[in-house]
Amino acid sequence: MKKTAYLLIALILLALCASAALAEEKATKDLFAMDTHISITAYGETAPEALEAAEALLLERERLWSVTLEGSDIHAVNHADGEAVDVSAATADVLSLALEMAESTGGAYDPTIYPLVSLWGFTTGEYRVPEVDEIERMLELVDYGAVSIDGCTVALKKGMQLDLGGIAKGYAGEEVAALLQERGVDSALVDLGGNIHAVGCKPDGSAWKIGVKSPTDEGLLGVLSVCDQCVITSGAYERYFTGEDGETYGHIIDPDTGRPADSGLLSVTIVGSDGGRCDALSTAMFVMGIEEACEYWRANEGFEMIALTDGGTLYVTEGLEENFVAEDKGLIREVCVVER
Ligand code: AMP
Ligand code: MG
Repeated sequence: MKKTAYLLIALILLALCASAALAEEKATKDLFAMDTHISITAYGETAPEALEAAEALLLERERLWSVTLEGSDIHAVNHADGEAVDVSAATADVLSLALEMAESTGGAYDPTIYPLVSLWGFTTGEYRVPEVDEIERMLELVDYGAVSIDGCTVALKKGMQLDLGGIAKGYAGEEVAALLQERGVDSALVDLGGNIHAVGCKPDGSAWKIGVKSPTDEGLLGVLSVCDQCVITSGAYERYFTGEDGETYGHIIDPDTGRPADSGLLSVTIVGSDGGRCDALSTAMFVMGIEEACEYWRANEGFEMIALTDGGTLYVTEGLEENFVAEDKGLIREVCVVER
């Protein structure tokens, strides 16, 4: 009897030591890159060293894809006056995906939107509501079909400019998730300004709980349970200004009208396993509005969606029914499950 008691105590101590060791293996990294606060939490023996490599990768991506940084690939392409420019393989890859997503979304997502983003002042913070003819002139420069890419050589038509702001964070987050895994991390959470990439599940094997932000306050629309997926949200509330006319104008531009998207959606969250694609989709669905977004979802596999309309209806695609719990009862008037 005594022997059993000793054995039990020894086992409990062993379990406590093991869990303490596990807890010690948590490492975190906070940095500011790609215009965003980034926070990464990773578990496992190799986590600290993997996080150093993750930081280096994100800073490198910023150096390549910043629109404003002289010497970045995107800056070079945007200022080449129509000439062809050689870019790095990573830039060619993200740009190819961007063009593919532009095609797939019928141009709702368009990486050549920069002249309009700039016209409305979103690049400098000097916001203004442009005249109709200014918008029309800039619209002529927005055309993903006019981007030519051959291997790592990229050329735009004169005056056109790229903006990877709608895809870069999701793409880079996915790259970080892959890098962490390659370096032996089985469990991590990569947070790029609220866009989340979950590597594996939590160290205890349960799903990560990811809060989906409310577009109107500090609260949550709900909580998602995910393993090995990204959760990417777009909304005008992230960056907007109020014009002299009292209207609010958001940073996501409708490439059809040249004006801030006004599709009746307050926010769109995309859940899936391909970060770049999910990021482009969050922007595209926000432009499309709920009906077109649901049509797109029905026609395309591999992602799920949560979208809130300005009327207070929260649309949740059926693949998330089991993993999403709606929370914000004030803003959400009804929850509607979207079926295939
Ligand atoms: P996101 O937060 O992923 O929706 O990205 C928004 C950012 O993407 C904006 O700040 C712009 O830099 C850029 N953007 C705005 N409108 C579009 C659009 N229709 N297609 C592609 N990128 C866009
Ligand atoms: Mg996006």
